Amino acid sequence: MKDDDKSTNESRRNLITRLLQEPPSPENDSLLNETIGDRLAQMGVSRRGFMQFCAGMASMMAIPAAMVPRMAAAALAAKPSVIYMSFQECTGCLESLVNSSIQSSANSTTIENLILNLVSLDYQETLMTSAGHEAETIRDEIMAANNGSFVLIVDGSIPKDPTNGYFISGGKSGVTRFVEAANQAGLILAVGTCAAFGGLPNADPNPTGAVSIGELMASKGINKPLINISGCPPIAEVITGVIMYYLTYGAAPALDSLKRPRVFYGEDIHDECYRKDYFEKGLFANTFDDAGARQGYCLLKLGCKGPISNNACSEVKWNARTSFPMKSGHGCMGCSQPYFWDGGVTTAKANPVPFWKNGPYKSPSFYSPLPASLVDD
Ligand code: SF4
Ligand code: SF4
Repeated sequence: MKDDDKSTNESRRNLITRLLQEPPSPENDSLLNETIGDRLAQMGVSRRGFMQFCAGMASMMAIPAAMVPRMAAAALAAKPSVIYMSFQECTGCLESLVNSSIQSSANSTTIENLILNLVSLDYQETLMTSAGHEAETIRDEIMAANNGSFVLIVDGSIPKDPTNGYFISGGKSGVTRFVEAANQAGLILAVGTCAAFGGLPNADPNPTGAVSIGELMASKGINKPLINISGCPPIAEVITGVIMYYLTYGAAPALDSLKRPRVFYGEDIHDECYRKDYFEKGLFANTFDDAGARQGYCLLKLGCKGPISNNACSEVKWNARTSFPMKSGHGCMGCSQPYFWDGGVTTAKANPVPFWKNGPYKSPSFYSPLPASLVDD
């Protein structure tokens, strides 16, 4: 890592720590008087750079170019409070988000960079320095001060029975903690497949009785806008893009039947995959390291679920838009679909083909050669 990058990362971490550490009081926190414009200027982000960022966001989300000034104005005018709560999860969703942020340089106008500067991330158990009663007090105060308007980001699924003892935090069950926050939120983002559809904790035999955020909301009669941002983990830019859309329009973007933003989940992975030409020519890799695989042949026979998985991986890509699984030689596992852990990529848990059995196309383990007798032609 270059020295510049190190100091950039260190100053960003210090800023984040300060933002999360200091209670919001006008007497002791000069940050409260700082505008987003000031913050961007400190980061070396020019007005032109910021407008380019907004234009890029608008383009990615198919927002008309005429809306770019409105998006910029909304982002500069409001710094929405975000409460980020984690339940039964592996922290991969947050890891994805934070790594994207840290990898960007201070003066870049990427959305990864701006996530921690355009929103006020007021509570996140893993990132914040405060802990215990202090952290809970901060959360309660922020929720009260922003009642009805803050964005609640949730990762992880929640045991539906609050008395079974499987999830307790701050002395409260997961159900109690979520319901408290959800009732005061303006918008709820269920981030990651665990929150959106139950995910790994919900996989058979689901010992904790975990359910998705949507199912829990329905059972508790919570009627707040919910957006599912599925993926294991989800793409950081997709999370930020949805928040920017909400800032611009004051409403959720158009959603699919699984409450996922159509702009990111409207197409399947296969639609934009660079191996699709080979798929159409009927050229398939038979092992992960055969000559065809190296030439970019389609990975369908090795279990790729791109044609039946909806996500933006092949368009938005991963790791600062560097690559995506099929580009590095691995098929899609369908992580953005319901029940993918033990039900394949359908919406029914009864589907008997989990992702690790490679779907309808027979093949042995990912790493051993594929005998010709096992290939469906
Ligand atoms: S590798 Fe997967 S996503 Fe890409 S063309 Fe083949 S089936 Fe479609
Ligand atoms: S390519 Fe498929 S398995 Fe990989 S992250 Fe995207 S949706 Fe998930």
